Amino acid sequence: MPRLKDYSREELEALMESWGERPFHGRQIFAGLFKRGVGSVEEMTDLPLRLREKLCEFEPFDLLKPIASQSAPDGTIKTLFELQDGSAIESVWIPEETHAVQCLSTQVGCPLECTFCATGQMGFKRNLSSGEIVDQVVQFRRMKSSIALRNLVFMGMGEPLLNYDNLVKAIRILSAADGAAISQRRMTVSTAGIVPGMRRLAGEGLKIKLAISLNAPTDELRDQLMPINKKYPLADLMKAALEFQKSSNHRITFEYALMPGVNDTTLMIQALRNFLVRIPSKLNLIPLNPIDIKFQPETNWDSIFDRFYRVFEKERIVLTMRRSRGQEIKAACGQLASGSETQHR
Ligand code: SF4
Repeated sequence: MPRLKDYSREELEALMESWGERPFHGRQIFAGLFKRGVGSVEEMTDLPLRLREKLCEFEPFDLLKPIASQSAPDGTIKTLFELQDGSAIESVWIPEETHAVQCLSTQVGCPLECTFCATGQMGFKRNLSSGEIVDQVVQFRRMKSSIALRNLVFMGMGEPLLNYDNLVKAIRILSAADGAAISQRRMTVSTAGIVPGMRRLAGEGLKIKLAISLNAPTDELRDQLMPINKKYPLADLMKAALEFQKSSNHRITFEYALMPGVNDTTLMIQALRNFLVRIPSKLNLIPLNPIDIKFQPETNWDSIFDRFYRVFEKERIVLTMRRSRGQEIKAACGQLASGSETQHR
């Protein structure tokens, strides 16, 4: 069954033409689905009746069904969505003072098996379609219409650059003025370091930002933590990061999940500095979330930050430590596991 939310504006225009309709109606349908977030044909009142009748065969429009939500005391909401094939993904809504940030999934599971990540431990099922990526935004906007959604981070379940075509298609729909109308400048794609995807993305002409989940400054340690490093080692990763930085003119964010005693030793911090001074960058330290896989959480994050700060203060590298949000509901980084799918059922 064709699914309208998997169509781009141009594809909807072509569909209308193939039906002998005016392409303009394709643009109306596009705006209805992604800007107004309509869930049924009846709500598409700007279309002629004959066209609405024809569109009935494309229902239901929604590709995701919210089946469970949890809220943390800090306002973070994690929602479990069921897909039409029965798979489940999670998406996280993080309210800030004036706006909200949404963390989107791009795959059901993830094939990369990073040792510190809950999603990586559950294996890979399939890529999400562009419509399934965009529908996470449409669904949350329906539920949380009072807070403006301003930023999107592609940091949920999955490696976005292994679902390249659907990711880019979703970004174009999400940023279209007659789509979800979210500025590309407020979107960040996070990758574990898929070098060919980074190179391709650099040439795409998008205004998005890139984040690299680094977590280790030496190949030896990164091979252990992130097996993808064996395929794309740090030297190749840096070359691709520099290419992206030059094409976007933005600092690259390097995410560094802190694993006390593993990647925060004096030697590791120095090696990290030597790696990062080569590129305009931002280093985001992330207290590792307690997922009980291999590493135990450390609580004295301030003193760890100070040790990094002492090494980085003279460098032109922005150093931040991310406040971890939504830990109580296992919504923070590395905690999006579809174990909740099983639990829910
Ligand atoms: S950290 Fe990202 S890339 Fe690595 S296993 Fe988890 S979801 Fe996949």
